[in-house]
Amino acid sequence: MNRSTRLLVALGATILLALGLVSPVATATAAPTPTATSTDRDLVEIPAKAAFERAVSPSECGSTLLDSYVDGLIADWTPEQLRFAAAHLNVLTSVPTYDALFFGTTGDPDYALESHEHQLQNTFRDLRRFWDIESADIQLMAMHGDVLLDADRIAATLTAMVATRQIAPLTPAQIQREAETVATFMQAQGDFYDDPFWTLNAFAFSGEDETDPFLKALPDKLVFGDGILEAYDAIGLGDVGPRVIMAHEFAHHVQFELGAFDTGPSDPAAATRRTELMADAMASYYGTHKKGLALNKKRVTDALLSFYTVGDCSFASPGHHGTPLQRERAAAWGAELAAAAQPRSYVLPAATFIEQFEAALPRIIAGS
Ligand SMILES: [Zn+2]
Repeated sequence: MNRSTRLLVALGATILLALGLVSPVATATAAPTPTATSTDRDLVEIPAKAAFERAVSPSECGSTLLDSYVDGLIADWTPEQLRFAAAHLNVLTSVPTYDALFFGTTGDPDYALESHEHQLQNTFRDLRRFWDIESADIQLMAMHGDVLLDADRIAATLTAMVATRQIAPLTPAQIQREAETVATFMQAQGDFYDDPFWTLNAFAFSGEDETDPFLKALPDKLVFGDGILEAYDAIGLGDVGPRVIMAHEFAHHVQFELGAFDTGPSDPAAATRRTELMADAMASYYGTHKKGLALNKKRVTDALLSFYTVGDCSFASPGHHGTPLQRERAAAWGAELAAAAQPRSYVLPAATFIEQFEAALPRIIAGS
């Protein structure tokens, strides 16, 4: 999308904002719009939510490829859809994510991989062989937007979100009303439920360090949204992007297994930057290594830096992934390490990789 189109989209959204998005649309049911809690940490960061907010009120932060893609999606919505999305944003973006996190299993047709299935299954199998960690227990699955058509599944997800404090408290009656409102709207809107926007993410989860017994009992997961796969296809990176995302998310499982989340800086933003840059470096090491994907370094870096976990400028946010330049240096470092393998087929033990990364991290951050 060129600059002027972007501006036009932004203007359109701003006008709609002025027309009534600021106060949520009053409905007969008047249930409070479920909002995220500020007291607890999100189990899964949902980048589409922030991208929507940037689309309707442009920030000083400059636009990313993710923003342009989201602008393009939103530009196709009717004013009615845009108003509904704004009023129910948290539910619409959270439910597909948390439904898969709480209830999804490998083998359940509701969570079967569809788009890019073969490619993702092969890369998953390959990554389990590549990294020397216990990975047989990781469940790979998809998240689909069609959960938004089903009031019972929405209600079950919201109930579990309230119980695990991922959303502000709601009564069972409020949950039921919200679930029915969303499902009824989506059922009347054609294929709106399938818009990439609702599932524009992929994530890794391990319940090992959770204290809540329900979360602790959940199996290790790798979840791929249809939306993120469609987004990579849309920018012509459909062959490399999904495999590189998979490598980045799998790296988080390597970190879970080796306790890498427990040993970082105490500042949450610095801690997240460290584990995210490490995951980029691991993805790039695997992506370019002879025994991994053996891809060209530039293609791997392009896929990492396009819009998946975008390098952001919310430096103080606990979700901060590092700036684009830091992410590029992390990817370059991983690729150099792979190129230096002696013999070429030698793969470092994951613990050694992490040690070497820790030593290089100050230079990756500072750029010198
Ligand atoms: Zn990550």
